[in-house]
Amino acid sequence: MTRRLAGEWIVREMWTKQLTPARTGNIIIIILRITKKVGRFVLKILVINAGSSSLKYQLFDMRSGEVLAKGLCERIGIDGKVKHQSVSGAKYEAEAAMHNHSDAIRVLVQMLTEGELAVISGMHEIDAIGHRVVHGAEYFSGSVLIDDKVMRALEDCVSLAPLHNPPNLVGIRACMEIMQGVPQVAVFDTAFHQTMPKHAYLYALPYEYYEKYRVRKYGFHGTSHKYVAGKAAEALGKPLSELKIITCHLGNGSSITAVNGGKSVDTSMGLTPLGGVPMGTRSGEIDPAILEFIMEREGISIDEMTGILNKRSGVLGVSGVSSDFRDLHDAEESGNGRAKVALELFAYGVKRYIGSYMAVMNGADAIVFTAGIGENNRDIRRMVTENLDFLGIAIDQEKNLRNELDISAVGARVRTLVIPTNEELVIAGDTESIAGAL
Ligand code: ADP
Repeated sequence: MTRRLAGEWIVREMWTKQLTPARTGNIIIIILRITKKVGRFVLKILVINAGSSSLKYQLFDMRSGEVLAKGLCERIGIDGKVKHQSVSGAKYEAEAAMHNHSDAIRVLVQMLTEGELAVISGMHEIDAIGHRVVHGAEYFSGSVLIDDKVMRALEDCVSLAPLHNPPNLVGIRACMEIMQGVPQVAVFDTAFHQTMPKHAYLYALPYEYYEKYRVRKYGFHGTSHKYVAGKAAEALGKPLSELKIITCHLGNGSSITAVNGGKSVDTSMGLTPLGGVPMGTRSGEIDPAILEFIMEREGISIDEMTGILNKRSGVLGVSGVSSDFRDLHDAEESGNGRAKVALELFAYGVKRYIGSYMAVMNGADAIVFTAGIGENNRDIRRMVTENLDFLGIAIDQEKNLRNELDISAVGARVRTLVIPTNEELVIAGDTESIAGAL
């Protein structure tokens, strides 16, 4: 794109200023050198997060860092709905026939390019696409440009993430079909955790299952943990390489990571995002013998049991009220004991991980709270951090109530920070550097 613009400019200059061929030649050489050095400018990046029946998108302008538009195509293959918002704040919401993810991509392109909410003149303005991919197994320790080899590896990861990777692949294929020739980059939830040492990622199972089936801890939410750890280092004014940070990504899915010197050394989720702390609807870690115990008594299959662990457990299962923490607080206030214990069980689970990761890293410089609950839920932050002063963790309740960046109490050895995550921005950034180097 840059070279094309430069070409047009040269022709115009030659014409208007009557440049000699020799002078024009010199200008061309200089421009070629510059454009070769800086690569192709990647100006507008579309970030895609494809789920089984939904597709979230954001269009970034990398010059300003601004989100030009964002939206969600949901109920794909059912009755199709699109919610779209442009940089001006204008919103659009409508039914839209979407039989599959290709239709959803067509709808989002239409949203971006046509009508009153248009933010670009056509698809040609999209320079690269970044995809969130949940599982990269041991293949990927960083983001990659998608080619045939990468697609084969992604297909090979499907058995490890049967719920998540197939929709991600469908999203990539749909973009390939509709936006042919636009570079596409895969950014993995698992990549950041590939630095974990073997003793942290191996399960105490017969080793052959790791060799044959790659059964090990992979960890998830990697882009979020990496992003907030970097932001925490900025806030502390120290190089990330010198810091020990415990990042708590607490949302519908929650995970805790020990980040030592900028590297993930342990994380709470495992082979799948079912492991670790209790979540909205997921159990987190439980005694594995419980599965057989319940299956026998209830006469249910392993598929049904897996469904229960993923969709009917966590704080929803315990409270019987909701997976949404706001509902749980409301229920607790009106005297619901099970909602109260569900909140306590969640906070206790997070606290146990903080304690164990302080042991793993021989201390910590900072605890970071992020994602829907971590960024907004003062009660959970208070419950997680109370009675940890022996570890140097103590928060100022006033700062906590105000959702300040640094909520540590005066004199606390370990700083407690509240940092909004931005996984889409990380995906856009990685996509820019990979596509820009082409
Ligand atoms: P996801 O994992 O789907 O991205 P989020 O990071 O959006 O989830 O987190 C969703 C959770 O955050 C919900 O349980 C919701 O109740 C909680 N949450 C969001 N805002 C608030 C708030 N202001 N107070 C308490 N909890 C909140």
